[in-house]
Amino acid sequence: MRNKEAQLCLSLFLALSLLLVGCGGGKRTPPPTSSAPGGLPSPASVARRPVKLDEAPPIRVLLKANFGSVPVEGSDVDSLRLLQASGGKIRLADGKGRVLRSGSGFRLRSRTGRILKLDGVAYEGVLEVFVNPLGSSVIVNELSLETYLKGVVPNELSTQGASEFEALKAMTIAARTFAFSALGQNASRGFDLYSDTRSQVYRGARSEQLLSNRAIEQTRGTLATYQNQAIVAFYSSTCGGVTADYQEAFQKPGIPYLKGGALCPDHASPYSSWEELIPVSRIQRSLDRVAGVGRLVKLESLQKSRWGRTVEMRFVGDQGEKVLRGLAIRSALGLRSTWIFGLEPHYDGSGYISEIHATGRGWGHGVGLCQTGTVELSRQGWSYEKILKHYYTGITLARRW
Ligand SMILES: [Zn+2]
Repeated sequence: MRNKEAQLCLSLFLALSLLLVGCGGGKRTPPPTSSAPGGLPSPASVARRPVKLDEAPPIRVLLKANFGSVPVEGSDVDSLRLLQASGGKIRLADGKGRVLRSGSGFRLRSRTGRILKLDGVAYEGVLEVFVNPLGSSVIVNELSLETYLKGVVPNELSTQGASEFEALKAMTIAARTFAFSALGQNASRGFDLYSDTRSQVYRGARSEQLLSNRAIEQTRGTLATYQNQAIVAFYSSTCGGVTADYQEAFQKPGIPYLKGGALCPDHASPYSSWEELIPVSRIQRSLDRVAGVGRLVKLESLQKSRWGRTVEMRFVGDQGEKVLRGLAIRSALGLRSTWIFGLEPHYDGSGYISEIHATGRGWGHGVGLCQTGTVELSRQGWSYEKILKHYYTGITLARRW
């Protein structure tokens, strides 16, 4: 599901980028990112995490899970060409499939003068291939958090030129803090972060760009903190003009620095406002998964937040009814956001809803930093510190390594 959504997001992003460049604007829109609650760090884990360190901590990123056979190049194990997993064992094999070594796990480093490649993609640091405690065969890239950021920031914020450099620095600190607060989050699975939108989009060394590398180096070790703890640095593509409150979006206890209500100049995004005609047949699977009321006969908005987002909605179907809250509404209806202006149902001859005409604002959960707004504020001359303090209420920036 997440992969499909990520692919859809990427396709739309590429199409829109071409459109914008074609119009002579030259401005690239930040790709939609990291809005999945499943991969987000929880505030509870953050509160236990010390933030004073001498050097950047190592981070473990999941590259592949439940794989069968994956090509590898540049390893310090002679003639190694394939990583194979079968029957709870990992095998290292040569180009002809002959087994060189077999065991429960291996750590692979790059051979001198070579870069380690997995499935054709170059990675810094170490590749660890093993069967995790849950019985899944996984490949994890372990590397310094600072080097990891070089493979993340360009994927999370596409910028052009010096006027957007402060946005890159703000994005870097948000991504660094997000990753730091996620350390240990998936320890039972043998890694910290996913390499896709469940956490942050990481594509290894091939992502690196000069400008983002400079932003990472200039802000080295800097985290956003609140009461001397690293914050959970939520961010999303386009808030729609005003940021959302964490408590209302995620239906969890509030977080002081994620209160929402920050005005945001993200009108450059095509998703600042949107209109869509949704055939119910297209969203029936997500409706079944999230609402589970059968065929839809009625939608009723019950409560809106002070910023205009839908907080509570009743779903009535031929097999029952259910009240959904926060981002579950967006998931059930396959919408870009919960900032919904209009939701007009069209009915078929039997009284079931066949299509929904929806209008709204923004893309993503809208909590914390807004990527499109960050780029615009940078263009207006805001510093990265001012941008971060605009989106995260009451925070401090502190260099920790
Ligand atoms: Zn915004």
